[in-house]
Amino acid sequence: MRKYILPAVLLLLFETIAVTLWLTKDNLFYLFNFSYIGIAISFGVVLYIKKYKHARKVVQLLVGTYMLLYLGLICGENMQIEGFWYYLFTGVFEAATIHYAVAKIFGPLIFGRGWCGYACWTAMVLDFLPYKTAKAPRKRAGWIRYIVFAGSLVFVAALFFSHVGHIEKIMFWSFIIGNIIYYAAGILLALILKDNRAFCKYICPVTVFLKPMSYFSLFRIKCDKNKCISCGKCKKVCPMEVDITDNSRKRRNGTECILCMECVKNCPKDAL
Ligand code: SF4
Ligand code: SF4
Ligand code: SF4
Repeated sequence: MRKYILPAVLLLLFETIAVTLWLTKDNLFYLFNFSYIGIAISFGVVLYIKKYKHARKVVQLLVGTYMLLYLGLICGENMQIEGFWYYLFTGVFEAATIHYAVAKIFGPLIFGRGWCGYACWTAMVLDFLPYKTAKAPRKRAGWIRYIVFAGSLVFVAALFFSHVGHIEKIMFWSFIIGNIIYYAAGILLALILKDNRAFCKYICPVTVFLKPMSYFSLFRIKCDKNKCISCGKCKKVCPMEVDITDNSRKRRNGTECILCMECVKNCPKDAL
């Protein structure tokens, strides 16, 4: 039963968040929301333990579609970075701000870029494309993320300070249009650069939060140097080009690890 400790701990962690937010905000939605996400993630970990090869995809679909379709389209919550800025400007600690705090700002201090591997609705689609690992060397284009990040902030600030009417409606439509643009850019870039995760590496503005916070992540994959035979298989299967055999926090592309576990699954010596 020891192998089920991790899913149990994860479920407990999410239930703690669910109950705390439910009671402090007096809103049953938080109990439902975080319980659902916790159950979906723990279920995925159980599938992984049972060696089901699509375990991660199951979690991506369960969490990603819930966020995109239910929270975004049905409930009208802008869960993109624009929604986060919007709630910050209004001073309301609700949906998008809580989502960012848990999944993308403070959460990565514990579980790194787990969001990117298991919950993001953009990557949920990109991961179905044919280029699971990059077929060409990495480009020096990471600076684009800062422009997109600043653009999203300027967009929401301009809306907010110009006191336009129906701002809630604009935020809803910006969620839909923003997602269409992200999907189109992500798919196009993946096909041109032959790399499913090119959007994550160069464009995604959320990585401005995710990368520095995940640098300090508690949960990281480490290499047992006594077992490693330097065969290089782990690097060949890594979608994010992480130098996972280097145990230092400064390892190459270390803040890009999405905890997909491909390296762990493919290591012939169980060194990871
Ligand atoms: S980098 Fe951005 S698009 Fe890629 S998985 Fe993470 S949040 Fe999603
Ligand atoms: S796959 Fe395993 S044995 Fe091979 S280099 Fe990576 S950690 Fe070492
Ligand atoms: S293959 Fe390993 S190092 Fe690469 S992203 Fe997945 S878990 Fe991280």
